[in-house]
Amino acid sequence: MYRFILILGLLTVLYFLLRRALREFKGQGQPERLSPGKDQMVQDPVCRVFVPRGVAVTEDIGGQTYYFCSRSCAHKFQEQLAG
Ligand SMILES: [Zn+2]
Repeated sequence: MYRFILILGLLTVLYFLLRRALREFKGQGQPERLSPGKDQMVQDPVCRVFVPRGVAVTEDIGGQTYYFCSRSCAHKFQEQLAG
C-alpha cells in the first residue's frame, strides 16, 4: 500500500511537470500579438512630445523616417527644413 501511494505521488509530480513543459512549448509556438516596436515611444522633433510608434504620424524625409504627434507637426517640420 505504501508503495502505491509513493507511485501515485510521483505520477502526480510527473503530470504537473509535463503539463508545465507542454504549456511552455505551446507558448513558444504562438506568434507575438503585437508586432515588435509598435509600443516603442518616439519623440516628435517639433513639440518634443513622446508618442507610441503605432499611432505616430510618420514622414520620410531625405531617406530618414521621422515621427510626429500630428499632421500639423509634420507640416511644421517640413517648413522648418525648407526655410
Ligand atoms: Zn507634435
